[in-house]
Amino acid sequence: MKIRSGFVSNSSSCSFTCCISGSTTSGRDGYYEDFTPINCCCGHGFAPQYALDIPENPTLEQKRDIIQSECLESSLKNCDDVDWDNLSDEKVEEVYAASEEDIRGFFSKSYHERGISEAPECICPVCAFQKISRNDRIKYLLKEILGDEGSFKKVDKDIKEKFGNYNDFENYIKEIKP
Ligand SMILES: [Zn+2]
Repeated sequence: MKIRSGFVSNSSSCSFTCCISGSTTSGRDGYYEDFTPINCCCGHGFAPQYALDIPENPTLEQKRDIIQSECLESSLKNCDDVDWDNLSDEKVEEVYAASEEDIRGFFSKSYHERGISEAPECICPVCAFQKISRNDRIKYLLKEILGDEGSFKKVDKDIKEKFGNYNDFENYIKEIKP
């Protein structure tokens, strides 16, 4: 059977929430309307406006991270004979130096707008500890309240004792936007 390309009968909707601002974007088949997501290799997903520039002088580990990120596969030079599983420090320096201009071009603001699915840590504001994600912030607050044990049992008990029904409880927490 011949399949006509460019024609999708079952398009699927997608949505994405920025872990920093909480703003959402939605679209179809991986194309988003308001902004295109960037996901770092540690799993933080954020809007492109929060992406950091590649550091002026990356450390060896940052260079290793950058050249190994999947999004760069086709932009790297001098890497036909590279053994990616055993990348020596010298080879990292060599590949990075040969491709630096293209790498910076790829990660420049305009490229950010195309979205990246496995971005290196050094462009992630959460990994770089410049922004706190909404999720981590809430986990921190919970940790402060719950302590090391991390059990919600006492919290649930307190809620039930303090409020007579779900409506009263819901009213009490409605101003909080996690
Ligand atoms: Zn990250």
